[in-house]
Amino acid sequence: MHTHEVPSYLAKDNLGPWEIYLEQIDRVTPYLGKLAYWVETLKRPKRILIVDCPIQLDDGSIAHFEGYRVQHNTSRGPGKGGVRYHQDVTLSEVMALSAWMTVKNAAVNLPYGGAKGGIRVDPRKLSIHEIEKLTRRYTSEINILIGPDKDIPAPDVNTNELTMAWMMDTYSMNQGRTATGVVTGKPIALGGSLGRRDATGRGVFVAGAEAAKRINLSLEGARVIVQGFGNVGNASARIFHDHGAKVIAIQDVNGTIHNTNGINPHDVLDHIAKTGSIAGFKDAEVIDPKDFWELETEFLIPAALEKQITAANAGKIKAKIIVEGANGPTTPQADDILSEKGTIIIPDVLANAGGVTVSYFEWVQDFSSFFWTEDEINKRLEKIMIEAFKGIWDVALDKKVTMRTATFITACTRVLEARALRGLYP
Ligand code: GLU
Repeated sequence: MHTHEVPSYLAKDNLGPWEIYLEQIDRVTPYLGKLAYWVETLKRPKRILIVDCPIQLDDGSIAHFEGYRVQHNTSRGPGKGGVRYHQDVTLSEVMALSAWMTVKNAAVNLPYGGAKGGIRVDPRKLSIHEIEKLTRRYTSEINILIGPDKDIPAPDVNTNELTMAWMMDTYSMNQGRTATGVVTGKPIALGGSLGRRDATGRGVFVAGAEAAKRINLSLEGARVIVQGFGNVGNASARIFHDHGAKVIAIQDVNGTIHNTNGINPHDVLDHIAKTGSIAGFKDAEVIDPKDFWELETEFLIPAALEKQITAANAGKIKAKIIVEGANGPTTPQADDILSEKGTIIIPDVLANAGGVTVSYFEWVQDFSSFFWTEDEINKRLEKIMIEAFKGIWDVALDKKVTMRTATFITACTRVLEARALRGLYP
C-alpha cells in the first residue's frame, strides 16, 4: 500500500476505511489521462463538521454523543448520502463513506456530490425517546450544512424512515416551513417515495443478475449467501429468492444460519418480527460464523459493515460473483486475491447505488410535488442500474481492469470533468 499524506485532524493510526479509499484512488489515477491533474481534489473532503450532541437521558442524566457530517465533493451537485448510528463510527470512516458517495452518485450519473454523516452511539442502548432527542439535536447541529439544495441526508446503518421523519421535522421547524426535500428515505406520508425501502436490495439484485447473464449463470437455483439482514441484506435476499435463486445462508450480529436446501427469507423476516433476532429460526442449522465465507455458492452478498472480506478470508471464498450491498466490505488486498482467482466483484459504488437512485427520485418528486407509481419507480431504477452496469462492464473489458477500477474510472472522470470545467475559485 502507498503511504498517503495524513490530514492533521486524523490520528496516524486511525485511517480506517479512508486508507482503503485512497488506495482505490491510486489505482484509478493512471487511467484518468489529463484529468489526473485534478486527482488531489478527491483525496480531501471539502467540508467536515464535528458536533457534540448532548441529550438528557430518561433517567435525568446528561450524555454526550459525537456526530459528524462530511461533504466530500460538490462538483456535480449538492452533497448526498446517509447518516449512520453505530458505536464504532469515527471521522475517518465517515470521510471514506462520504467519498464513496461521490463515486457512487457519479457512477450512476446522479446530479449529486457525495456526503455522509454519523453519530458514535450504540442505539440498542437508548430508548426510542432518547434516539428521537439525539436525532433532533444532531439535525439542529448540522443545520448549517444541510438543505434540499445543499446536502440531503438519508438512512444508513441503524437509521430508518422514522429517523428521517424526525430529521425532516426538525429542519422544517428550524426553517419555519415544511421542507420535505431535505432528507430522503422518509415515510410515504411525508413525501417519501414508493419503492425506496427495497431500492438498494433491488439494485443489488439487478447488478447481480446482469453479471450472471454475462457468465451464462442461470439464476434458477443459484445459491446465494448474505451477510447482514438489515434493510439491504433482507431486501436483496427476498428479491433473489423471488427470482428463483436459493438463499442458503444468512449471517448477522446474532449468528449464522445455513440450509443447503434453501432458506425462505420472508420466513426469516417473520421470525425476526416475532422474536427480534435471526437466532432460533427453525428451518436452518446454526454454523460457526467463520465457516460462512467458505460455503459453496454462486453469489455472496456482503450487506453489513466495512472490511469483512480481507486477506485473511478472501482466499477461501468460493462465490463466483460478489455483489457488495455494504459500503467498503472488501479491502484492496482481498480485491487482488479474488480477482486473481477470477471472482467477479460488483463494487459497492455500483452494486448498492439503487438506494440513492430512488432517493434521487424521491427528491425530484418532492420538488415537483408530483408522485410516481411504484412500477414507474422500479422500471426507472432498473434502467439506470442496467445502463450503468453495461457501461462499466465495457470499460472493464476495454481497459482490462476490475469492475471496481472500471467504476472508479467512469465516476472519477465525471467528477473531475466537472471540477476542471468549474475551475479553481478564486
Ligand atoms: N446510505 C445509502 C448509501 O450508502 C443511501 C444514501 C442516500 O440515499 O442518500 O448509499
